[in-house]
Amino acid sequence: MRALVFTDRLRFDPAAAAPPCPPGEALLRVRMAGICRTDQEITRGYMGFRGIPGHEFVGTVEACPDHAWVGKRVTAEINAACGVCDLCRRGLGRHCPARTTLGILGRQGAFAEQCCMPVACLHEVPPDLTDEEAVFIEPVAAAHEILEQVAIPEGAACAVLGDGKLGILCAWTLSRVAGNVLLVGRHPAKLQKARWEGVATALEPPANDSMDLVVEATGTGTGLMQAIALTRPRGTLVLKSTVVSQGELNLSAAVVKELTIVGSRCGPFGRAIKAMRAYRFPVARLIDAVFPLEQGEEAFARAGARGALKILLRM
Ligand SMILES: [Zn+2]
Ligand SMILES: [Zn+2]
Repeated sequence: MRALVFTDRLRFDPAAAAPPCPPGEALLRVRMAGICRTDQEITRGYMGFRGIPGHEFVGTVEACPDHAWVGKRVTAEINAACGVCDLCRRGLGRHCPARTTLGILGRQGAFAEQCCMPVACLHEVPPDLTDEEAVFIEPVAAAHEILEQVAIPEGAACAVLGDGKLGILCAWTLSRVAGNVLLVGRHPAKLQKARWEGVATALEPPANDSMDLVVEATGTGTGLMQAIALTRPRGTLVLKSTVVSQGELNLSAAVVKELTIVGSRCGPFGRAIKAMRAYRFPVARLIDAVFPLEQGEEAFARAGARGALKILLRM
C-alpha cells in the first residue's frame, strides 16, 4: 500500500507492507488525515517511533469482526488498551501501561491507505461532519479533556497561551463553558483566525495574575513561566504540551501561589463529536492546505513552516 514511512527520515513508499490486523481489530481504509505537532516531533525522534506516523484521521471500515461496522465512516480513539490491567479496569485505558498508540507507540499509523484499530476504539462520524471536519475530532477531544479534569464555572476568567491548532481548539472549547477566553499568541494571522464567539486575543499576556484557569499550549519554558505568572493564587494551570523544551525552570511562584497543576493529554471522542455538532467550531478555517499522500514530504515541510496551521493529507 501507499504510505509515509519514517525511518531515519520521512519518505513516501508506494509499496509499504499493509498493517497487521490481529483478531478483534477493524481494518480501516483511510480517507483523510491531519499532520499535527506530535507527528512533526516524531520525525525528530520523539518516542523513538519508527514506521508509519499519523493519528488524526477519518476512514471507512473495510473489514471488522462486528459486521455492523463494515462500510461505516469512522474515526478511532488513538490508544489501544489491554482492557484487563488495573488501570484499564478503573476506566483509565488511555493510561494502560501495555497500550499501543496509533502512529506514536507500537502501532502503524494513518498516513497510509489502511490502518487497524480495535473495534472498541471506533467512533462513527455523523453525516453532518465533513471529512475535513472529522479529522479534527482527535484534537477537539484533547481540548475537551480539560473539561473532564477541571470543573469550570460559567464566567470563570480563562486564558490559553499558544496560538497553535491545539491552543485555538482549547480556547474555542473553554469559551463554550466559561463564556469568555483570552488567547495569547505570537502570530497575528493565527490570532485573527482564532477570534470566534467569546474568544478575544492578544500578543502579550496581561501583566497581572487575574486568571482562574490558564492553559499552557506553547510547549516552551517561557510560556510555562508566563502561565504561572498569569494564574491567580489557588488557580489552576493546565499543561497541554507533551513536548516541552528543556531548560532550567523556576517553579517557586507556583508553590507560593498554591496553584493546582493539571497535566492533560488525549480526551473523549464521544464528547468531542457531540460538541462539534452542537457548536460548529469553525475548524475549516484552520486548514492551510490539503496534499495528496504522494506529496507527504512536501506536506510535512509546509506543516513545519512558520505560521502554518493544519495541513491535511488525502489518501
Ligand atoms: Zn495530534
Ligand atoms: Zn491495560
